Amino acid sequence: MPSSVASMRPDAVSVWKDTEVRERLSWYRQVMIGRLPAKFMLCRKIPTQVENSDASQEELWNEHASLSQQLCDLVKNVESGSESGWSLKDHHPNLLDLKGALVNRMLEHCNFCEWDCKVNRAEGKIGFCRLDRTTSVGSFFRHYGEEAPLIGVERKGGSGTIFFESCNCHCVFCQNWSISQPKTKMNIIGEAVTPVRLAEIAEELASEGAANINYVGGEPTIDLHTIVNSLTHMSTSIPLIWNSNMYCTMESMRILADLIDLWLPDFKFWRDECAKRLMWVGAKASYPEVVKRNHIFAAEHGSMIIRHLVMPGHIECCTKPILDFISETIGDKVLVNIMSQYYPSNMVPMNPEKYPDIARYPSRKEIQDAYDYARALGLQFEQVT
Ligand code: SF4
Repeated sequence: MPSSVASMRPDAVSVWKDTEVRERLSWYRQVMIGRLPAKFMLCRKIPTQVENSDASQEELWNEHASLSQQLCDLVKNVESGSESGWSLKDHHPNLLDLKGALVNRMLEHCNFCEWDCKVNRAEGKIGFCRLDRTTSVGSFFRHYGEEAPLIGVERKGGSGTIFFESCNCHCVFCQNWSISQPKTKMNIIGEAVTPVRLAEIAEELASEGAANINYVGGEPTIDLHTIVNSLTHMSTSIPLIWNSNMYCTMESMRILADLIDLWLPDFKFWRDECAKRLMWVGAKASYPEVVKRNHIFAAEHGSMIIRHLVMPGHIECCTKPILDFISETIGDKVLVNIMSQYYPSNMVPMNPEKYPDIARYPSRKEIQDAYDYARALGLQFEQVT
């Protein structure tokens, strides 16, 4: 292992010289370098009276809306320097405890994502994601292959990536299919983790020098209960990254909005038909409509890098409309990673006649078209692409 980030990923250091990167990722950067506390640490400064088991879900959500506004105000004050987030005292119970109570209730009629299965995973029922209440971690390590701002600037660095097993999308081309696409629950073979164990993993990564904790999968949304409850057991302030397909409900987004310092969503297809055929998602709620809504919401609540994987044959129907959408809505706040590394994987190589459009690599012209289009729109993408 090289002795420094600078020797392995010099762009991880140089990227912060870019004014747009510094401005757009300002919150995340200040948390990463320890100048400001992570949002989940600030949640402890907001007391609650109603996280107890007697309260109805409606009462819990009403309290959450009120405390979430307080957190939002606190984040603004801390960022502007008018209040010190470090010196405020912790309360018990607090907004983090309230969020834990809410996700536990949600698990009983699971609506973490827009499949909205309504199954009681707390009692062992299984939804479309093939998970009951058990959270399984496939692997965790400091990742040096992520976007430059995620690698960190300290001597060791790396993005503290935690891979959760299974997913709520079944992309026929998934490059992570070995952990994201178990055929049944029996095929989920990673480490079963409790909130306490997950917090230990995150603390271990932080103590090794990770620049952040990067929740990914599969899909982290389907393990929201374990992730949120793990945060009450963490003591290190470190930025949290949500590396997600964003096919989650507004309830999940509201829980996450006060916790996530850097959103790392991906936006794959613009057309419903493309998403249904190639991701097997959208039967209940339209994938592009959900993902558009969640991107706009997320951009109001933290720093953001949007990933778009250029798919062969989908430049006109998907890539260009997605870049248009970003430009027209949140293009002045975010960075965009236009990814060129698609290759046929998972079910595609075995069924090229079924998926002829994506049974090849994207051409050089298609990638160049995507770059040219983004450049013409004025999107900030070249720093992280
Ligand atoms: S996480 Fe999504 S797919 Fe899984 S049970 Fe809940 S609503 Fe269904």
